[in-house]
Formats: sequence, structure tokens, C-alpha cells
Amino acid sequence: MNVAKLAAPGVQHLVPYKPGKPIQELQRELGIDNITKLASNENPLGPGELAKKAIANNLHELGFYPDGGAFELTQALASKHHVDSDWVTCGNGSNDVLVMLAEAFLTPNDAAVMSQYAFAVYHIATQAVGATSIIVPANGPDHDMPYGHDLKAMGEAVDDNTKIVFIANPNNPTGTWLSESSLRDFVSKLPSEVLIVIDQAYVDYGSAPDYGDVGSWVKEFPNLLVTYTFSKIHGLAALRSGYSISHPGVADYLNRVRQPFNVNTVAQVASLAALEDHTHVQRSRDLNAAGLNSLRAICDELDLQYAPTQCNFLLVDCGRPAQPLFDALLKLGIIVRPVDNYGLPNHLRISTGTESQNDALLGALRRVLG
Ligand SMILES: *Cc1c(COP(=O)(O)O)cnc(C)c1O
Repeated sequence: MNVAKLAAPGVQHLVPYKPGKPIQELQRELGIDNITKLASNENPLGPGELAKKAIANNLHELGFYPDGGAFELTQALASKHHVDSDWVTCGNGSNDVLVMLAEAFLTPNDAAVMSQYAFAVYHIATQAVGATSIIVPANGPDHDMPYGHDLKAMGEAVDDNTKIVFIANPNNPTGTWLSESSLRDFVSKLPSEVLIVIDQAYVDYGSAPDYGDVGSWVKEFPNLLVTYTFSKIHGLAALRSGYSISHPGVADYLNRVRQPFNVNTVAQVASLAALEDHTHVQRSRDLNAAGLNSLRAICDELDLQYAPTQCNFLLVDCGRPAQPLFDALLKLGIIVRPVDNYGLPNHLRISTGTESQNDALLGALRRVLG
């Protein structure tokens, strides 16, 4: 049997997503257990107390299928975003929503536009359905938003076959963002037959004066969809919960390809509780601001360049191939993220941690670089 021939054409050349190295894996390899993972943009505080309580209180539900329509969570999200519930699509992580978008809207005759260095899942989801990714060169390293999306070039790349434009704002792995005004200009000028997807996984970390949540724009632009996740600031990455807000006409098609029970019960109740936990969100935001200051101070001390960020990580330019540094840090029990798979072989993406985690990173980096 020639499996390669059997595989769907789009899947034949697909390179799977490369996740951060799991703590347990490094534990097995090194036989040590004080490992610091700053590799997957997780919240070092984990979930808040309200979410943990909701999880513990719902374990007796595990024998039942979840509510396929995620009724309560959907209502709460609709209320948060001032829309009716048919504007909300819940996903098994926002990744699930991205995949639903590709399944519902892209065929092998279609294209999706995305930026170089954009979050890898856009390309994977597009390829998986046999559609074409139009990857638009990003800003250069000397731009004031280095490696960020070039909206003008992205607009120009939209052709007759383009059905979706994927935008990460802010973007992972670069941390870069687009100003609200430039984004608004882009959205209002794009042909209304093209679906614009704005991924706001890090929206609650954003604090720049020109950065903002554009979720409310879906009421003005029926071709706009905005995604959110519970994996980042809400600290629920393991549960897989995310969602989108869009015109119900778009949501209706997502719902047709959505798996019937895509969001599990624990994820539903924890997400619902997390929405109410403003204290935890604020604590996480404050911790991140302090963490970014520490990371920047570390980089300044070690003479490493870094890109501006609205996220909970820093894209650090090591000025030399980053893989040996990554390997050396691993031996010291520190997991960061190489981004050579994004075409950035000299960079590392480092998530913010607690004070002691940041100290551990600084100590290890001094040893590795010094
Ligand atoms: C982490 C991340 C997501 C979130 O993925 P989930 O599937 O919700 O965990 C989405 N987009 C970007 C840009 C991310 O960095």
C-alpha cells in the first residue's frame, strides 16, 4: 500500500504543529523534577479559584455527554459581547474554530491569505482541506513592528480565489500587533465577499494605547469573525476552550461542521466561571506586566534584542543560531521555544513566568551565554 498516495493531497505536504516541549518529557530525559517551562504562553498562575471550584463541582457529570450547544457558556459569552447567542461559536480551543472555518469555507480551489510568521495553525488548517495559503512577507527586522503583519501587502495579496484572511492580533510567535485604526481601515476596505478572521488569543494582555478588542465590529462587518481563547490569560489550556463572535450567517456554517460535543463539560463550566473571575484576570495581567519587565531587563543585561509585544511572551533575537542555546537551557531544566519552524532560526520565544521562574531563566541564560 502506498500511504503517501492514499493521503489527501493537502495533507501530503503538511508539517504537523510543533508544540512546546512538555515538562514530563524533559523530566523523563533528565531525571530531575524542578523544571521551568516558559514555552507555551501558559498562565504561570494556572486557572483561578472560581474555575477550579467549578471543575471540582462537576466531576460527577463526566459520565454524560456534554451539552452539545454549550447553552450557559454561550449565553454568558453573548452577554459579554453584547450580541445574541447565535453570534457565538464555541470550540474545543479556538484552534477548533480555525479548523471549522477552513472546513466550512475553503475548498481546493480557494485560498487563504496570512502573514509570514503568523500563528502556524492558519496554514495547517488551510492545507488540510487542500486549499492554498498565500503567505505575505511580513515587516522586516528593522521595522518598528519587526516581523509583524504588513496589512497593505496582505490587502494587495487578496485575489479572486481568496475566501479568508487570517490576522493574529497580537501575533504569536512575534508578539507584534496592529493598531486599531490600521485594522479598521483594512477591514472596511476589503471586499465584503472575503471573510476576515481576527485571532485575539492574547487580547486581555494588550495594554498599548493603540491596541484594542475589535469584537464589537462584527455588528458592522458581516464578513468579520473574531476568535478568543480560555487557554491563555484564563489559564485553562488543558481543557481546550475557545470561541468566536461573528454574524450568525457565518456562525451557522461553522455550526454545520462543528462536532456535536466539541466542548467538554469541564471546559464549559470552568470557562463560564473564568468569565466571572475578574480578580484572577487582573492578577494575571499584573504578573505578566512584571514578567515582561523582568524578561526585558534580562535581555538588556545580556545584550539581546527583542520585538515589541502585547502578549505574555517575548520574541528574543539571540544574534546566532538559537537551537544550541535552547538545548543548553534544556540541560539546566529550562524549556523555552525555538521558532526555527517559523523561519526564525536565531530567535527564541520566551513566555513570562513567576518571579522565581524568571530568576531561574536569568541564571540559566547567564550560564549559557557567559
Ligand atoms: C495560543 C493561541 C491560540 C489558542 O489556541 P487554543 O486552541 O484556544 O488553545 C490561538 N491563536 C493564537 C495566535 C495563539 O497563540
